[in-house]
Amino acid sequence: MTGYSNYEKFARLAVVKLEEVLNSDEFRKAVLSGNYIRTNGFSNKDLYEQIMKAHEVQGEGGEDKVIDLRLRTLSLDSDGSGWMKACDLNSRYGTIGIDGNRDGIAAICPQRLELWAKENSISELAGHYAHEYMHIIGFSHHKCLSSQNWREKTFVYKIGNLVTELISNNGNAN
Ligand SMILES: [Zn+2]
Repeated sequence: MTGYSNYEKFARLAVVKLEEVLNSDEFRKAVLSGNYIRTNGFSNKDLYEQIMKAHEVQGEGGEDKVIDLRLRTLSLDSDGSGWMKACDLNSRYGTIGIDGNRDGIAAICPQRLELWAKENSISELAGHYAHEYMHIIGFSHHKCLSSQNWREKTFVYKIGNLVTELISNNGNAN
């Protein structure tokens, strides 16, 4: 975890919740009964197994069956002014972070991290990690001119949203 400074403790709470959810029976059942696009041709059962296998295809990876989550915040130095502008909370892009830059490190906009920390939105942060992790294990939602509606049907988006929803429903975080 790099660049998280004061929010490291908050982020660790989200990681703990993420782990709990991924290992839950509720999560397994929800994944198996889901309906997704952009599945790399996998059945629901295989999709669930891919998550459990936790084999990172982007970045350094690590041990299988263990989620090797590498995190950083975006910065002007490493990402440039274009990204920092997109990160602006009022930006029309609604950018949360960078995915798919192939280094296996999930990057979050510092403004977003700060906002979620202030709101104690552990569920949102955990959902973001789940989303990015789906990219790291090889799934994508990219398509030219994709509409929000189209994106939200993808496996990557649905898993991120599912994690947020399950944590919220369990009532112990926002
Ligand atoms: Zn994404």
